[in-house]
Amino acid sequence: MQPGQTDGARAIAERAMDAMARHDVPATPENYTIWYAYAAGSDPELVKALDVVISNHRSFTAERNAEIYERFVSRSRLDHTVQAAGEGLETAMERVLRLLSDYGADQSAYGRKLAQISGTLDGGPTAETVQTVLRQLRQETRAILIKNQELEHRLSRSKREIEQLRKDLETVRRDALTDPLTGIANRKQFDQRLREACAAALEDGGALALVMADIDHFKAFNDRFGHRVGDEVLKLVARHLRNHLKGRDTPARYGGEEFALILPATTLEGAAVVADQIRRSLAQHSLTSRQTDLRYGKVTLSLGIAVYQLGERLDDLLQRADRALYLAKQDGRNRVCTEAQLPADAPGEVPAFTTANLGRLGA
Ligand code: GH3
Ligand code: MG
Ligand code: MG
Repeated sequence: MQPGQTDGARAIAERAMDAMARHDVPATPENYTIWYAYAAGSDPELVKALDVVISNHRSFTAERNAEIYERFVSRSRLDHTVQAAGEGLETAMERVLRLLSDYGADQSAYGRKLAQISGTLDGGPTAETVQTVLRQLRQETRAILIKNQELEHRLSRSKREIEQLRKDLETVRRDALTDPLTGIANRKQFDQRLREACAAALEDGGALALVMADIDHFKAFNDRFGHRVGDEVLKLVARHLRNHLKGRDTPARYGGEEFALILPATTLEGAAVVADQIRRSLAQHSLTSRQTDLRYGKVTLSLGIAVYQLGERLDDLLQRADRALYLAKQDGRNRVCTEAQLPADAPGEVPAFTTANLGRLGA
């Protein structure tokens, strides 16, 4: 390493440690990886995410640190695994192609040999030449048969290898797009699906609704009953979302205790009905511990909805759904609000909407 580079790395490490101390981030290897990347500025998305937390004076709780690590570090490791599996597949394919081309070369050499042997009979066969030809034929045929068997053996080994690599690749791909706790789409898959859904809506002019949902007072729930119970609640919410949606809809864990639903071919009113069904069914559910019969009480959700305005930036759509969610929180939680209820003069003004003034649902 050049002296300058060493100094650079040391300076980055020092900046990372300073920033961690300033923001009360525990010095774990995972956190250090995050903050080193922040200090080095190597991932603009990560820098932006941390800057948002800092500028909002939010603290770096253990959950938030874990979430950031999951989102930016372990995901990029998964990407590397996908790449490695892909490269393995490529090498295996190249080997098969080489085997096949060797096989082709062996076959044509065999053909040439046969022509050459039969050429020895051209002057008229004698008992002696027939004997020689038969012996040569036997030798050449045995040799090519052995080569064929070897090839078959090697081809079937390569086939098994390729099959295994393909399965590994599929698992890694699926894992990279799924939230491990709840089994629904993770943020990465959500981003992909939302982009695809918006592109499809642009193409066919169809409606597309986005619902953002956030568990109410989840911190208090966690503080009271512990994170393990909290995690069970996250799974329960994910199950409710899945049960109320159709095949083309995507429920996703957006982050922490926030969820997002992509509802293609759905209007604001349609989405409000679905969202309120989810809200109601969850609010009716009373949670008890299976082991101890301890009552955890009810868990409720606040939900905000916006619809895609053809051609707008996805960030604007997300922001409107988020603002509607914030309104639902402000209004008392356990309710659904839509973008039609947002004040028109607020920043990021909502375009005029024909089904305006959809009343607040539920509560
Ligand atoms: P609000 O009604 O305003 O949404 O209040 P809240 O307490 O739900 O919101 P806040 O953003 O203050 O806290 C979110 C809490 O969610 C913090 C943390 O305890 C919890 N949380 C986030 N991710 C996880 C997770 O993966 N597992 C568990 N068990 N808890 C999580
Ligand atoms: Mg939240
Ligand atoms: Mg919450």
